Amino acid sequence: MKVTDSIQSIRTYRWAKPGETWGLVPTMGYLHDGHLSLVRRARQENDRVGVSIFVNPLQFNEAADLDRYPRDMVRDLSLLEAEGVDAVWTPTPEMMYPAGFQTYVDVEQVTQGLEGAARPGHFRGVATVVAKLFNVFQPTRAYFGQKDAQQVAVIRRMVKDLTMPLDIVVGPIVRERDGLALSSRNVNLSPAARQQATCLYKALSMADMALNQGQRDADALRTRMTDIISDYDLAQIDYVSVAHPDSLVELTHVENRALLSLAVFVGGVRLIDNMIFEG
Ligand code: AMP
Repeated sequence: MKVTDSIQSIRTYRWAKPGETWGLVPTMGYLHDGHLSLVRRARQENDRVGVSIFVNPLQFNEAADLDRYPRDMVRDLSLLEAEGVDAVWTPTPEMMYPAGFQTYVDVEQVTQGLEGAARPGHFRGVATVVAKLFNVFQPTRAYFGQKDAQQVAVIRRMVKDLTMPLDIVVGPIVRERDGLALSSRNVNLSPAARQQATCLYKALSMADMALNQGQRDADALRTRMTDIISDYDLAQIDYVSVAHPDSLVELTHVENRALLSLAVFVGGVRLIDNMIFEG
């Protein structure tokens, strides 16, 4: 497995045999089965698989959150080696954003609500780093998780708008047995908060069930999710949303499809989760 932080080396390695297809899985490391599910999918669908590990300072709107982000490069590399990954690119912030850096990608509308509203500048950081990862790696396909539903919408929009020559592939959310979506941030949960962290999945499941039983009023669905979360004393809602899955505009009435999503602080750790309803 090729491991390098160098832009030049990774590009040379990627283009050694130009006929080969490459799948890229962009990550911030501290890998879990959610990441590895994307790696396995990329493995099946491409001749070669690359993974990037980069905790992108540009997408953190709070310095403390960036500092607290978990890291374990040794463990990550051994997991990727075991998955048969061909190349891992681990750039430094200085390589990605050298002195004088001043060019950013702003996706305008689909970034407005949800995570974009709660975390100003977050998607500017995401779109900019992902554009750079694509430019350096030049993959045939790039793999993202449905866990970050708005990120998927933002990247799809960017790829379309900037005519980027690659396919975006989205994998389903991988969960713990009790429903908690896997996340690198889960390690920051105290034992008590970990127990209560199932409230996100419970709220989404109940709203999904209500939709399946014919409830189409978006406010009633938001209230249902809010009520469930408020039963948990360590949980504090950041937002609860019923939105169109592509535009992410909040709905008043659900026709066929809806993205149910929420962000909740559980014992001070901010967790996000979502479910897509297809009527
Ligand atoms: P991150 O390292 O958190 O930036 O995540 C890297 C990629 O893994 C992103 O495309 C995420 O959406 C995806 N991912 C993170 N958690 C999960 C999960 N539980 N299930 C599926 N994909 C995930």
